[in-house]
Amino acid sequence: MTEITAHTDFIQPFQVEGQENGVALRGRMVRLGPSLNQALAGHDYPSVVSRLLGETVAVALILASSLKYEGVFILQTKSDGPISTLMADVTSAGDFRCYAIFDEQKLSEIMAQEGEPTLMRLLGVGYLAFSVDQGQDTERYQGLTELAGTSLADCAHQYFQQSEQLSTAMVAMAEEQGQVSGALMIQQLPNESGVVKEDEISEEDWRRAVALMSSVSPRELLDDDLPAADLLFRLFHEDGVRLYDASPVQNKCRCSESKVRQTLASFSSEEMEGLYEDNKISVVCEFCKTGYHYSREDMASLRETL
Ligand SMILES: [Zn+2]
Repeated sequence: MTEITAHTDFIQPFQVEGQENGVALRGRMVRLGPSLNQALAGHDYPSVVSRLLGETVAVALILASSLKYEGVFILQTKSDGPISTLMADVTSAGDFRCYAIFDEQKLSEIMAQEGEPTLMRLLGVGYLAFSVDQGQDTERYQGLTELAGTSLADCAHQYFQQSEQLSTAMVAMAEEQGQVSGALMIQQLPNESGVVKEDEISEEDWRRAVALMSSVSPRELLDDDLPAADLLFRLFHEDGVRLYDASPVQNKCRCSESKVRQTLASFSSEEMEGLYEDNKISVVCEFCKTGYHYSREDMASLRETL
């Protein structure tokens, strides 16, 4: 395991002990710094988009880290407002990437009119979706919830309330320009049969744990000089908190020349013709902005090799 030395770009699993009847709560903390900057570099997003995308990545990482999967976890919003897509995906190795789609004109109008528009004004009507892609011929787990609430963590929380057997609470935040983002989540541990019995933790204990977690300030969660252990102790010291090994996360795109070729190869000659501009086909990765360019000669030889 890679040792975590900086106080950013990690997932820190922990457990809150000491509930009245001895039930422990499972938790996760994520804080992103340089990796997030790398993911946002080259996009030149308006600051509100960078901030929301920073939160999206933090939420995706924290949810992904609580699932057992081999493959890619995908979190995205689709909606009809100025910011129509927020997308992040995370591999089981901790590689993440992200992008947003937004209408520049609509977004600048709403920012000029309202200063600090609510999340729902920015995103509009739509949904938040989760899926896990474990490769060909494997099940694609999908969860869907309507966008509602004042933050992306609220939306994710709503999903758990509707569908999940685990009680889950979450906060996620990002700096205005998206340089640092972070998230905290606590969940009731399932018993051996995988089911949380309602009487395992009292409503009062659960509410208290959620209140402690929610008392985290943006300054603490996003302070890249504050070690996770110090922050978690500050929040949960009355009950006792146990930390497990943290894992690093990093920004890494999975696009490649060969994947682009494969995609192009699936087009008909007619469709391909429509892709030419100035006798060139240019494909730009939505995530990392890497450009792949093909001349007519390139395409002819590509076709021959298929
Ligand atoms: Zn890429």
